Amino acid sequence: MPSARVLKHVIDVHCHPTDSQIPEAVISSLPITICAMSTRQNDQVLVRNLATAYPHNVLPCFGHHPWFSHWISLNGEATSKDDHYRSLFLGKEGKGDPSDDQIAAFEKLLPSLPTPLPLAELLTDLRTNLEAFPSAMVGEVGLDRTCRVPFDYRLEHRELSPFKIPIDHQLAILEAQIDIAVHLQRNVSFHSVNAQKLTVDFMARMKARHGTTWNQISVDMHSCGLSPQMWQSIERAHPNLYLSLSTAINARSSSHKSLIAAASADRLLAESDIHEISQCLGRTWDMLCIIADVRGWEVEQEWDDDTGIPEDHWGVVRRVENNWKAFVSGNHNANGRQSRNVYSPM
Ligand SMILES: [Zn+2]
Repeated sequence: MPSARVLKHVIDVHCHPTDSQIPEAVISSLPITICAMSTRQNDQVLVRNLATAYPHNVLPCFGHHPWFSHWISLNGEATSKDDHYRSLFLGKEGKGDPSDDQIAAFEKLLPSLPTPLPLAELLTDLRTNLEAFPSAMVGEVGLDRTCRVPFDYRLEHRELSPFKIPIDHQLAILEAQIDIAVHLQRNVSFHSVNAQKLTVDFMARMKARHGTTWNQISVDMHSCGLSPQMWQSIERAHPNLYLSLSTAINARSSSHKSLIAAASADRLLAESDIHEISQCLGRTWDMLCIIADVRGWEVEQEWDDDTGIPEDHWGVVRRVENNWKAFVSGNHNANGRQSRNVYSPM
């Protein structure tokens, strides 16, 4: 590991520390900044408390993950719990009758599911949390066409039901959260799995709907699994989109290296996507080293406070930190980046 003076400039842009124990000794001596995601109703407060206790290195992110979007009701309390889940998983009337197996699986699943949370209530909470933390982001939100609902999500070894969450339902919840992000001018951490085309269409729709205000916020495609070609076309269409990679997800296949090579140097960020806070530093650092290796950038072992270092001499930490600062400032120019050098010492 390099010196603490270098690590001070490292940002883990996506992790889930409230999903496991947080040892006081680890968090209080953490040399990097972490962006702590929330994913469902009961962890919003955990992220809030963590950011309150450690404001210097925890940036809170509030939002509802697509994996838990079936817990959210679009119709308020007008629909019963049974009707809500039945219409999501067994289909609406006229879609053909569910099979006996599907009905049996549904009956097994239903008791472990919570009373659905009305979307309006969720959005009020989201606004309250964002307003309480002026630098908070919206996340983790997004789209997932792979995930199946577990019979009991609280178990460590989750048996999966045959049910997926309908994409229209996911989209409705995502759009409502993104609307708040745009209105409150907050950046977004975005999950997209097996949904390339849907994600591209979604971004185009947001750009059309929100006009120039869309470019005032930044969106990070977290553990980005898009193809290099798809990323390059997204990058051209949206000056406000960034991508971050994790060893937890991306390093499972070698395609992340072609993505790192294909992306613009000024759109790359690094993340751990990990639950154990003790691994945030090591994992984010490993990803920075991979980025440096693919791009042929130096890895800083010591920090030079000189702000006049020419860009082609920047190491990976300075470059990725600079990208993060541009991400945080937003206000992207549709004709290219607003200003390439926004670096200033912390
Ligand atoms: Zn995540």
